[in-house]
Amino acid sequence: MGIVLGGLCFLCETEGASAEGLGRESLHMCQFCPSLVLSSRDRGTLLNHVGAHILFDPRVDCFSTPCGFCLSPSDSCVMYVKKGKGAHQGDRLDFDRSRCPAKYSLSITRTSKESSRSPCSNVPLRCPLCPKNSAAVWKYNMRYHLARAHQQDPEQYTSLWKLSDAETAAMKALYEAKSRSTKRKRQTEKASKFAKEISEGHVCKLALRYANSPS
Ligand SMILES: [Zn+2]
Ligand SMILES: [Zn+2]
Ligand SMILES: [Zn+2]
Ligand SMILES: [Zn+2]
Repeated sequence: MGIVLGGLCFLCETEGASAEGLGRESLHMCQFCPSLVLSSRDRGTLLNHVGAHILFDPRVDCFSTPCGFCLSPSDSCVMYVKKGKGAHQGDRLDFDRSRCPAKYSLSITRTSKESSRSPCSNVPLRCPLCPKNSAAVWKYNMRYHLARAHQQDPEQYTSLWKLSDAETAAMKALYEAKSRSTKRKRQTEKASKFAKEISEGHVCKLALRYANSPS
């Protein structure tokens, strides 16, 4: 059983999910990359993949404030942030309150730190201009949210949303690698189809020659 939501297909979630969805695997197909199955187990991969679409894909409308887990417009997915338990815990995704078919338990403090393996720092953040306990805003959407929801100049709040040059470059490389691999796959398919036609033609010619050969 799977459900289709606005072009996205979410496959079955595995049974036995613990609290906060830890240990649960959910599989997701990107609406733009139907051949790609993303697993919530590959921490970071989902955020990186979706983040690259949000930043660079002209098919994504930034003002729709797309969900960082699944690209759906913000009115279908809602994120909340809570303080993690323990003195040294930073913010976490409030898993139970948040709504998204692709959500997974996420340390916001840890994920927003850049690493070369997972350059995407797109996490749900508390907006300082929204009322307390409001839904969170994804970092990549913050500047659009500030302009739309608060009529503020995002340049006044760059610390909330500005990406480092390194993150921008790494995310751009991810996006370009993705479109390259799609192109390469198409070329390979064409090549193998061509090879098949040639070999079939070859077989026919051989058969013809065989039939014409004097017995
Ligand atoms: Zn199912
Ligand atoms: Zn994709
Ligand atoms: Zn979502
Ligand atoms: Zn706000």
